[in-house]
Amino acid sequence: MTATHPAPGEVLTPEQARSEQAQGQATDALTTEPRAPREAGGVTDASAPAFAPGTDPLEVIRWALAAHPDVLMPSAFNLNGVVLLDLAVRAGYRGEVVFVDTGYHFPETLQTRDRLAARYPELTFVTLNAGASPDDGQTDPVLYAADPDACCAVRKVAPLQRYLKDRAPSALLNARSRDQASTRADIPFVEAGARVKVNPLAHWTRERLEAYAAEHDLPVNPLYFDGFLSIGCWPCTRAVRPGEDARAGRWAGKGKTECGLWAGDGKL
Ligand code: SF4
Repeated sequence: MTATHPAPGEVLTPEQARSEQAQGQATDALTTEPRAPREAGGVTDASAPAFAPGTDPLEVIRWALAAHPDVLMPSAFNLNGVVLLDLAVRAGYRGEVVFVDTGYHFPETLQTRDRLAARYPELTFVTLNAGASPDDGQTDPVLYAADPDACCAVRKVAPLQRYLKDRAPSALLNARSRDQASTRADIPFVEAGARVKVNPLAHWTRERLEAYAAEHDLPVNPLYFDGFLSIGCWPCTRAVRPGEDARAGRWAGKGKTECGLWAGDGKL
């Protein structure tokens, strides 16, 4: 099943989208089949230490905090993001966690953000575009169906780019991991670019993330347990079938795999 899209002019509710997209697709349990390890690659930042693949993420985060004291953490509060957030606090991060409200988030995602904010009062949770809705005029309410790249560019990438231009951090803490999708198979711990991207979880598998979340009783988005292994906006997210990459449910059938924050011309 691909993501459900309404007829022209018709806007589904998040509840309708969740019900239709999860129907018959929920996984039986958190853990799915292990993935084969992949070789290192990508554009490693030359100023970073040569971290071995088995390096503890805490060591990578501590290096980032020392090398880039202005480091900032964007998050959408997926499993990876929740684990990274907890590790970052343990490593001493006391900065901002920046979330973009596109207007199309599942209520469960917003509730997860609020639970995390209550759990980690030492962090500053920033919501850009707070209170956005499909009908707020930022885009046509169903632009996601006709041109999801344009919708992401306006509703997700641009607000964060504007914020980062103002804050000007030298580095970003990011929760991507190699086994999320083939497009992420080569990300290094520390990635060169206009801003350094620090990816402490690059080598952690989904199974490792799930085990960490369970061990520390982290507030994982409840949709995860219904097979939504990567959760974005409700019109563009479906549950994942057993054996699929965690991000296979994002923009399914739309020929799109990334929102544009981490890949493409407008990447952070
Ligand atoms: S994920 Fe979908 S609804 Fe959300 S900003 Fe991108 S195209 Fe629009």
